[in-house]
Amino acid sequence: MRHCAASGARRICQTPGNMRGEQREMPIAPPQGATVTIRAGRFIDGAGSAPRANVTIRVEDGVITSVDERAPASGEVVIDLSEYSVLPGLFNMHVHSVLPGDGTPFHEWMELPDELLLLQAHANALASLHAGVTTLRDCGGKGSLMFRLRDAIRSGIIPGPRYVLSGHALTITGGHCRFFGGEVDGPEEMRKAARRLLKEGADFIKIFASGGGTIGTYPQFPAFDVDELRAAIHEAHKIGKVASCHCTCAASIVNALDAGTDHIEHCSFLTGAMTVEYDDDIARRVADSGVYVTPTLQTMHDLDSAMVARVDAGTATADERTFVTNARARFATQLETTSRLHELGVPLVAGSDAGWRHTRFDNFSRELAHLVDAGMTPLDAIHAATGRAADACQLGSVVGRLEPGKRADILAVQGDPSTDIAALTAVAMVLQDGRVVVDRR
Ligand SMILES: [Zn+2]
Repeated sequence: MRHCAASGARRICQTPGNMRGEQREMPIAPPQGATVTIRAGRFIDGAGSAPRANVTIRVEDGVITSVDERAPASGEVVIDLSEYSVLPGLFNMHVHSVLPGDGTPFHEWMELPDELLLLQAHANALASLHAGVTTLRDCGGKGSLMFRLRDAIRSGIIPGPRYVLSGHALTITGGHCRFFGGEVDGPEEMRKAARRLLKEGADFIKIFASGGGTIGTYPQFPAFDVDELRAAIHEAHKIGKVASCHCTCAASIVNALDAGTDHIEHCSFLTGAMTVEYDDDIARRVADSGVYVTPTLQTMHDLDSAMVARVDAGTATADERTFVTNARARFATQLETTSRLHELGVPLVAGSDAGWRHTRFDNFSRELAHLVDAGMTPLDAIHAATGRAADACQLGSVVGRLEPGKRADILAVQGDPSTDIAALTAVAMVLQDGRVVVDRR
């Protein structure tokens, strides 16, 4: 990914998101990967295989060169994780890095200056790393802020995770997350906006195909028409990239599939009456199309919990009291929907919607726990946050599985997450490119 060469006193670094291969000057060289040998007591490969005992992972310049049972030779630099479970660093597949996740209403937060949003994004980056998350797939941030944060991390100015970025994402005039600056209408504007995002370095095109939680939008109705969705998705596909649609109502799921989306966020079956009614025909279409789905269960659960707390404290508004009346049934329906999609063979990936409303960055393993509640085994849930997640980000050949040739982004935890997903909360060590970034042993 990094193609840097010395050039006088400075280094020239080609930013990987730059599809035209233009070179941008970076004043600081990115950190180099480490050469190290890791002894794993329990080894989980991130490909969904059964765990193995006493495995040695050798890393050269940040890349895994071997995975086997050979004991380290004398002279090797060894990190002893023989008391721990070792697995790939996790992917949080749906975040909004510039948002705080502390309950502040979205429209109020977006009145803050960009500098504060950027600092919040960096705080969220560090919180993610400390929770074992080494890749964040950002599904919408303000303007170009996330591209600049990624530049700073890649050039070694600040530490942070690997990012998969969509930029400001695309929404209709007056649509969900419009404060990010991505309002567009009609196929021509969609085409141009998508091209601009790809020029800036977007890894995928994210489209709000329905309304959402932004005041004045309609999560129960589609936003873009199919020809608009198709125009933006086509631009991504033309250069080998992918597109994802935020879909909170059944009609928007159908639109996204008709337009050729690669990925669906939320995949909720809201009706025009704001009830949730699972539709098996549409679910089967989702399964047959092979698209990835991020159910984002954690953010729904967090929102419900926060509202229940406000009702209990007597501070809830009339709208919030109505919301809570249906909350338990709504979350149960979302769990059932997720369970059914899993049974139908839909490739689910783990993303919490961190940043949005009450969902934090430091407790991402809860999303995996919800996926287990929806019927996945703990190993399935880990696969949804590692190997499969990497595939959905088009990074499957780079990272996400612990095998030769992959970057050494690694997490070690106490206990056995392959049988008890809660073990993921006991983070012992996090490595990026073989370098230790968190050590709590
Ligand atoms: Zn979101």
